Amino acid sequence: MSRLLATPAAREFFALEPELASVSEVAHGENTFAAYDSLSLLPRIDLGDVGNEFRRYLEFMASEWLVLHEIGHIVQGHLAVGRTVNGLTYILEQDPSVDRDYNITSQALEVDADCFANLFCVQYSLGRHHILERDGASHDEVVVGRLKPYLFSMLSVLRSFDHSPLNLETLFDSDHPPGCVRMSYLLAQMLTMQSETTIDFKGANLVEAGGLAAITLERAISQATGVNSQGGNLLPAVSIPDEVFRKPVLSRWAKIYPELNAIKLSPFKLAPPQYEPA
Ligand SMILES: [Zn+2]
Repeated sequence: MSRLLATPAAREFFALEPELASVSEVAHGENTFAAYDSLSLLPRIDLGDVGNEFRRYLEFMASEWLVLHEIGHIVQGHLAVGRTVNGLTYILEQDPSVDRDYNITSQALEVDADCFANLFCVQYSLGRHHILERDGASHDEVVVGRLKPYLFSMLSVLRSFDHSPLNLETLFDSDHPPGCVRMSYLLAQMLTMQSETTIDFKGANLVEAGGLAAITLERAISQATGVNSQGGNLLPAVSIPDEVFRKPVLSRWAKIYPELNAIKLSPFKLAPPQYEPA
């Protein structure tokens, strides 16, 4: 995170002081997927008092999102379709399987856990003051200013799960959807929160904020690593036809919905099925 923040792209996005740190270009990897992986192994950059505090805030939100994702698996009833080994039932975060049917079920659960985390994290982030917040900012500026760090942290986590360009042929060869598909789904979920007024975003332009956060992240990865070839997958993920991802995954959601509903711990309603069970 320190290396992403020490780039012109991130400093511009967050209006950080330009002299916070200089960019150190370190080219590792044949494309930005490999380069982003290698970035996490490099030592942290000192960003000064303000930059370091902001960096810790971003890291906290990334961890919070991950923890809430795991809590989501438990409270949303996912153990109903978990794997039982030696008397204990698990939802495994890495369970390599070549069974397409099994993977579709797993991906439905992953998307649900992501949405659970997103709902809480968006609300938490909107309620939090952070060190870069200016006094006298308008209501709309405060909302966007609080969303930007969350968007950047959440996208930076999901971006790290992609190791190659998006390939629709292999979409269900894994128990988790590609990171870019998860990014796209969560940005769309935020638009739904806005249109259904689940959350009051004031006049914030979520499409612009989400798009800018994703572009900033890609530019920051390139600037921090010096690697430009093959940017992220978000754009192709946004344009995946419904029949290719949403329909199979949400039809599976509809199929397992009664089982999940029967053992869920959450007092909230599960998202109602939008497709016929399959
Ligand atoms: Zn998960």
